Amino acid sequence: MSLEISNLDVSIEGIKILRDINLTIPTGKMAGLIGHNGAGKTTLIRAIMGLLPPDKGSITFKGEDITRLPSHRRANMRISYMPEDRRLIPELTVTENMLMPAWANKIRDGEERLKWVYSLMPEIADFGERKALQLSGGQQKLVALGRALIPGREMILLDEPFEGVAPVLAKRLSAVIADLRGEGLTVLIAESDDSHSADLVDATWRIERGAVSQGRRDTSESSGLTDY
Ligand code: ATP
Repeated sequence: MSLEISNLDVSIEGIKILRDINLTIPTGKMAGLIGHNGAGKTTLIRAIMGLLPPDKGSITFKGEDITRLPSHRRANMRISYMPEDRRLIPELTVTENMLMPAWANKIRDGEERLKWVYSLMPEIADFGERKALQLSGGQQKLVALGRALIPGREMILLDEPFEGVAPVLAKRLSAVIADLRGEGLTVLIAESDDSHSADLVDATWRIERGAVSQGRRDTSESSGLTDY
């Protein structure tokens, strides 16, 4: 198992946001995390990244307990996330933005990983020397995905990657995410509905008011509980 979350509770400013979360993703599989705005998707992703301390419960990654591990150590374990907002540094070039997490986390093979990301998304390489502020919103989204992939060589958590993205670009994002399967990555895709992730994921988890349950596949072939 790659990610294993057990009985996790998380509070923000004394208010319990996540309750008794149990969720697993096997290595190399993709999972959807589907829930309305405010359901707790971002909070769960931030907890997995070590940006919010849990009240109780555990998070293990590849069998190692990472519940209390600082966020940068999780990056060193090749776990990363793509925030909902793009958070690129506008004045830096695309390549500089891409390499920022490698510098911040002292990743020695950053340049090599950059080449790997550029091979997955050649269109980013084409505007590598442009400043981030010169890109369209959609192009910035691709760069944000690429930037997250540099530290996230093993597991990547995508917070509403399709939000506000035009259909053509959503298709391209889907194709890149689908390609990650061939690269062996474990992937979590948070979405408010499963319109984009349904075709990508191996299993769906529903999140509602801070509680997670395993969802049902809405395809005609299978109406049973999803599993991996
Ligand atoms: P969205 O897409 O709207 O961000 P989400 O499913 O990602 O939805 P979260 O952002 O995780 O949801 O929010 C879950 C709950 O936690 C919401 O009720 C939200 O109001 C609350 N919350 C999030 N951050 C804070 C904060 N800093 N202080 C207080 N409450 C917060």
